[in-house]
Amino acid sequence: MIKTEQLYEGKAKKVYATDEKGIYIVSYKDDATAFNGLKKGSIVGKGAINNRVSNHLMTLLEKQGIPTHLIKELNDRETAVKAVTIVPLEVIVRNIAAGSLAKRLGLDEGLKLSSTVLEFCYKRDDLGDPLVNEYHIKALNLASESELDQIKEYSLLINTILGDYLLPLGIELVDFKLEFGRTEDGSIILADEISPDTCRFWDTKTKEKLDKDRFRRDLGGVEDAYKEILFRLMGGA
Ligand code: UDP
Repeated sequence: MIKTEQLYEGKAKKVYATDEKGIYIVSYKDDATAFNGLKKGSIVGKGAINNRVSNHLMTLLEKQGIPTHLIKELNDRETAVKAVTIVPLEVIVRNIAAGSLAKRLGLDEGLKLSSTVLEFCYKRDDLGDPLVNEYHIKALNLASESELDQIKEYSLLINTILGDYLLPLGIELVDFKLEFGRTEDGSIILADEISPDTCRFWDTKTKEKLDKDRFRRDLGGVEDAYKEILFRLMGGA
């Protein structure tokens, strides 16, 4: 399989078309941004770590019945994925108050929520990915009712599977962001990535942050936190 044209360059990844129909190649970058692109930097080794972590977690999810875009890891930072059209929503799943939720609702970061919270943001960089509800999604035709039902069902199931997997590894799944895609036959599958860029991972005992908040909040030890997540998930493999 060879890359043909570059289709898209985002903040953390590039996506290429290939000579095989229905297959794209994703290439993970070390570039890091936060606050809708206002803060820019680079995290050495991040691309390779996120590639491996995301593929590891998507393999786990596939085994538990969640369809994902993953086809095959090609090398350090590149993976072959099923071509999809991304549903223009960021689905945020929250177990513990942190980040924008803590700020918006005046909650202490670390407060355990009584039940899981699902939020949707409209994927529009120019608007700062605003929060939308199910009425907006319907009125703007961002996803059909049955697609949204499927997305919600998968998101909650993913939360349970990942939470149960990470806890014995000493990782608390605070919150995370998912993106879904439509395949050519119209089905919904999990796309994008699941990595320390897109999840809040806290050490269960010390509550130390092992994710992109170290970059966002200038906490230092960013590279080590990403390495620690890779190590806890995959050991020396
Ligand atoms: N998130 C993400 N991309 C975004 C916004 C959020 O991956 O564009 C993830 C983020 O890493 C966190 C979760 O979604 O795990 C919830 O983020 P939040 O809404 O608290 O926003 P933030 O505090 O990151 O601005």
